[in-house]
Amino acid sequence: MYCRNCGNEMDNQAAICVKCGVARNNGNNFCHNCGQSTNAGAQVCVNCGVNLAAAGGEQKSKLVAGLLGIFLGGLGIHRFYLGYTMMGIIQIAVTFGVSIITCGVGSFVGPLWGLVEGILILTGNFITTDAKGNPLKE
Ligand SMILES: [Zn+2]
Ligand SMILES: [Zn+2]
Repeated sequence: MYCRNCGNEMDNQAAICVKCGVARNNGNNFCHNCGQSTNAGAQVCVNCGVNLAAAGGEQKSKLVAGLLGIFLGGLGIHRFYLGYTMMGIIQIAVTFGVSIITCGVGSFVGPLWGLVEGILILTGNFITTDAKGNPLKE
């Protein structure tokens, strides 16, 4: 990857650019993926097409997302946590919708869905990035 501030090629694991001292993904002068200079407000690199906006920001935790799914999955909390707002709303709607339609008999459906998703997030590659495309922390 490249420093977004000075365009210097930097180690993928490096937290700080050795050339200019700026933290990784800070700055908006160069593409972190291909090193091409970018416009300050650009969302996408015109050279390689990578999402520049996604590179910054905090990484969401896979563990937190998985546990939220397991314990609060019926309410789609793990989806909201990862930024998949629409999917979270759908999960709430399904949880309460199925519950109401079946007079409570199906009230386990939503939580069960969340539980399965939580386990899949923790154990596999069900969701590997948040809604912005940032990879999840292990
Ligand atoms: Zn730099
Ligand atoms: Zn690029």
